[in-house]
Amino acid sequence: MPPSGRPLIVMAMEAEAAPVRSALNLETPAEKLHPAFSSKIWESPRVCLVLNGEDRRYGVDSIASQPAAITSLLAIERDRPSLVISAGTAGGFVNRGGHIGQVCLADSCYFHDRRIPLEAFDAYGNGNYPVVDLGDVGTSLGFQLGAVSTGNALDAPEADLAKMDSYQAVAKDMEAAAVAWVCEQFDIPFTALKVITDLVDSDESTAEQFVSNFEIATQRLGDATKEFIELITTEGEDYAIRT
Ligand code: SAH
Repeated sequence: MPPSGRPLIVMAMEAEAAPVRSALNLETPAEKLHPAFSSKIWESPRVCLVLNGEDRRYGVDSIASQPAAITSLLAIERDRPSLVISAGTAGGFVNRGGHIGQVCLADSCYFHDRRIPLEAFDAYGNGNYPVVDLGDVGTSLGFQLGAVSTGNALDAPEADLAKMDSYQAVAKDMEAAAVAWVCEQFDIPFTALKVITDLVDSDESTAEQFVSNFEIATQRLGDATKEFIELITTEGEDYAIRT
């Protein structure tokens, strides 16, 4: 299949995706990507958005790394996007200037919880995946550039915090690096756009902050994604990406 030329946005939670779809006018009915998986896609001539969907047994959004990888694979095979954006909420860091509602754009992307102290597996575990340089676009929109760091837990034990400090992470999520790995296999440019819902290095519990700031942050995510997509795509015959 030839490249569609559209960017693809990969998201994990329906409540995060709803304001983004509405900001991007992605109001067509969702289409399932595979009979065995809950992944679903919304399309417009300018952009596509995929969601992991609900876990068939637990009935909650399929967050974290494996669904993100499967959904990315299925959507990339179908649409051959020109850029993939892992979008969603994330934890931020007070000691690196983070605040609730801050928008972060990746300039690098790692896993912080794949601790494998066995020679070359150490680097494999950390990932450090290719991230496309959209620094000028991000800066012009007032986004914070920095490392987006992924793990499969909402909390952050000491070892994870030390790893995130080593590359000065600005956003901690549960999906971006999994999406980045799939993009690397396909040689498709990747980035992550995250809005801070909670501060990892504060005394308040992450889960409580996440719930109370969720609505404000996801509205901000909708606006930020729209501004970003409008700036990186040229309105024309095929909405080619400008990178
Ligand atoms: N408790 C929530 C579940 C959200 S889990 C609920 O009941 O709805 C967190 C989701 O938001 C993941 O998809 C992850 O990518 C993102 N996220 C937000 N803050 C995070 C943090 N501090 N650490 C890891 N992921 C975070």
